[in-house]
Amino acid sequence: MTTADTTVPMVVADQVCKNFGALNVLTGVTLEVQRGEVACLIGPSGSGKSTFLRCVNHLEKVNAGRLTVDGELIGYRERGGKLYELSPKEAGRQRRDIGMVFQHFNLFPHRTVLENIIEAPVLVKGQSKAQASERALDLLTQVGLRAKADAYPAQLSGGQQQRVAIARALAMDPKLMLFDEPTSALDPELVGDVLEVMRSLAKDGMTMLVVTHEMGFAREVADQLVFMDGGVVVEKGDPREILSNPQHERTQSFLSKLL
Ligand code: ADP
Ligand code: MG
Repeated sequence: MTTADTTVPMVVADQVCKNFGALNVLTGVTLEVQRGEVACLIGPSGSGKSTFLRCVNHLEKVNAGRLTVDGELIGYRERGGKLYELSPKEAGRQRRDIGMVFQHFNLFPHRTVLENIIEAPVLVKGQSKAQASERALDLLTQVGLRAKADAYPAQLSGGQQQRVAIARALAMDPKLMLFDEPTSALDPELVGDVLEVMRSLAKDGMTMLVVTHEMGFAREVADQLVFMDGGVVVEKGDPREILSNPQHERTQSFLSKLL
């Protein structure tokens, strides 16, 4: 479901907090991702990037603050100034509009590429196998893997598996795509093809929130760069500006270690 109001940003995080017991992982994350925007999230290991993405995608529950996607509060309903947790069914409805791609591709090993892609559209959206397969083949063409429809994941390179994982997420027609270090597990020579697919997705207007260490991609493709450290957003803005002239000492220190 989409709200009619297209002026609402796709993602709004306002002082989002998340703790695991005594460990405060997110201590007030505030950011916005506009519709059609590509936002790259960078920051040191352990700064809370994955946890934030997982909150957006219902894999973790926010403890405090507000997190909305397409104007809807994630995981909760607000009534009379109080918050009530959504039922699993309601949460599932929110979640199916959000695609996520992980570092490790998480394809089903005993299913072919095509079967991996049509699984959710058939089971969750009730599409016929024929209908879902037709769309899956289009998506495979889009990611350059039409010829691999009947292959099994183990027969593909890591880069090819990741492109299948992207096609699988797209098969649900998400309004938002989350990527958590999608190229970090790949051999260097396989990174480019995956980034190329992401670049073309961005060009087609997909709203994307991407955790990455690929600064070239961030510089060229992102509309916004967000630097997180210690569970907060330290600095955000135009990627070129931040990369060439970081304002914060923590951003400077992080970027200097990448070079
Ligand atoms: P990043 O993706 O930026 O490397 P993460 O969000 O994965 O950071 O992790 C931030 C911190 O939260 C780390 O200290 C990590 O150990 C901790 N953490 C993440 N998930 C859990 C969990 N389910 N239980 C306890 N601690 C967690
Ligand atoms: Mg992470």
